[in-house]
This record gives sequence, C-alpha cells and structure tokens, in this order.
Amino acid sequence: MIKTRFTEMFGVEHPIAQGGMQWVGTAELVSAVANAGALGFLTALTQPTPEALAKEIARCRTMTDKPFGVNLTILPTINPPPYAEYRAAIIESGVKAVETAGYKPEEHVTEFRKHGIKVIHKCTAVRHALSAERMGVDAISIDGFECAGHPGEDDIPGLILIPAAADKIKIPMLASGGFADGRGLVAALALGADGVNMGTRFCATKEAPLHDNFKQAMVANDERATDLIFRSFRNTARVARNAISQQVVELERGGAKFEDVSHLVKGTRGREGLDTGDTDMGIWSAGMVQGLIHDVPSVKELIERVIHEAEEIMYRRLANLRVVSKAAE
Ligand code: NAD
Repeated sequence: MIKTRFTEMFGVEHPIAQGGMQWVGTAELVSAVANAGALGFLTALTQPTPEALAKEIARCRTMTDKPFGVNLTILPTINPPPYAEYRAAIIESGVKAVETAGYKPEEHVTEFRKHGIKVIHKCTAVRHALSAERMGVDAISIDGFECAGHPGEDDIPGLILIPAAADKIKIPMLASGGFADGRGLVAALALGADGVNMGTRFCATKEAPLHDNFKQAMVANDERATDLIFRSFRNTARVARNAISQQVVELERGGAKFEDVSHLVKGTRGREGLDTGDTDMGIWSAGMVQGLIHDVPSVKELIERVIHEAEEIMYRRLANLRVVSKAAE
C-alpha cells in the first residue's frame, strides 16, 4: 500500500489517476479503474449532450461502488460545447471529484467547490498551477511535455516540471505525462508528487473502448512515434504519428491556417477510426510513453503491477543501495 495526500484526499487505495481522454474516458474504462482502487475520470465532452453525460455517470455507478470523477476540458473546439450545462449535469449527478483542464477554469472551479466537489486541475506550467491553487482547487495534475494531448507551449519535460512545481505548490499534486509503470511512480514520488496520472498507458488495456488495432499500434510504437501538431496555432497537441498527423505537420510548415486542416483533425473523424480500427483515419492522442508499453493487460493487472513494481523498487532496490555501497567499500 502506498498512501499519499492524494489517496487520502480522494479516498482511493492507490496513488494513480486515469485522467480525461476524449473518446476513451467512458464507463467501461473508468469503472474498471475505480474497481482496481485508482481514480478514473469520465470525459464529459465525449458524451454528445449534458443529458447523455448524466446517463453515462449513472451507468458507471451500476458498474462500480467505488469513487470516480468527471473531466471537463476547456480548449479550442470546432463546435463550442455548452460548458455550463455539462457542469450542471456533473453537479446534479452527485459526483464528488472533477478534473478540469485547459483555459480559465475559474467559473467552473468556483461552482464545483460550492457544491462540495473536489477539483483537480490539470495544467502544463508552474505559473498555471499556482494560479489554480490561488483559485482554490484542491489538487493539481502537472503535465510534462512528454504527454499525449495538449502539452502547452513551454516544452518543459516532467523531470524539470514536476520538481519545479513541487517547490511552489502546497496542495497535493499528481505527476502526469510519460507514466506507465512502477519506476515512473517511484520517480514521481521522489520528485515531490503525490501520485501519477496515466493516460496512454490506460488506452492499451483490455477495458479501454477503442479498437484493438490502436492498442497493438501502441505496443508496436516506440517513444519516437508521436507528432506535435497545431504548434503554429499555439494549441499544440501530441498525437500518434500517422498519415494524417504527417499531413498536418506538412501543411502547417507551408503556413496553413486551422481552417485548412480542420477537416483532417476533427474529433469525429478520429473517433470513426477508433471504432472501425483504421489507425490512419484521423488524429489520435498518444504520448512518448508508447515506448514503455509492451502489452495489453486488464486494468486490474496493470494497476497491481505498477504498485508491486513501485514497492519492490522502494523497499528492496533503493532500500538496499546503502548496503550495496558499503559492501563495495
Ligand atoms: P474538435 O473536433 O473540436 O477539434 C479537433 C482538434 O482541433 C482539438 O485538438 C482541438 O483542440 C483543435 N482545435 C479546434 N478548433 C481549433 C482552433 N480554432 N484553433 C486551433 N485548434 C483547434 O475536438 P474533439 O476532438 O471533439 O475534442 C473536444 C475537446 O476535447 C477539444 O477541446 C479537445 O482539445 C479536447 N481533447 C481533450 C482530450 C483529453 O484528454 N481530455 C484529448 C483530446 C482532445
């Protein structure tokens, strides 16, 4: 058992979260994460309407009696969603944890907290983490440049970003971006975090609701198999390298505007690929951590493995280092 401020605050067994992932954060995955003792988040905007989100939360409750949360991401979208209505659906559902991500979450944070909901804000810069802390969020998830999805524009990898944030943030903090195993968890704890958030690693599990071709692609891919798109629009996204991501990078190099690539990158197109198994259909999020993914376990097997490996490292390998160096003298 590894107890941290994160496990205490959110009432979960393990210091591991599965944060919001567009198209992937559904009841199948989130309930499996909850049942395995970690904290999963349904992705609000994966549901087409706030009513559908309320139904998905209810469906998740039939699949687990453990705590789980909902992610609300506020980033540029082709069709801006009714955020306040999604927020109301979350509040009315009685969910006790929310992960916010993206720009200007203040109005949402204030409302969630007013209703006794704990908020963990995911961000990619120390200054944003500090401003979220001032805003009154309960915890931070700090996301290094390695991550899938939106790493921000500062390009600071986790090895620097996590301790830099830990030096300044007083509230509990998760480390995110690049985590897949017990080595990462121990490293995150050593760098000052209270646990890890994993995204891509959870996509390559039996319960993740995406076609097996994507899971096998993540196993086959190494750490170089990502592209950074939308750099020129200051909305950088790290996605798995494929025919579409390469095309977008090329178009941006030629000075394309978002309107010139929107037909290639729209979420609905990517989702069609996830359902049919065509990994070149659209863009799909995946991090550099693909280089550490070698199998497709169940969520329970994955979480037990991460914790077991972390405990072995902390209580055996690291604890014995002093003895080893004495013997070498
Ligand atoms: P979408 O179809 O509206 O847009 C596709 C992509 O284009 C997204 O990455 C979006 O940020 C970007 N985009 C849209 N309009 C833009 C503009 N004017 N300038 C620059 N970039 C623009 O998005 P979607 O796939 O339906 O996803 C819905 C929301 O969820 C988006 O905000 C997206 O960024 C976000 N998202 C979240 C996660 C997560 O893990 N929570 C993962 C992927 C995407």
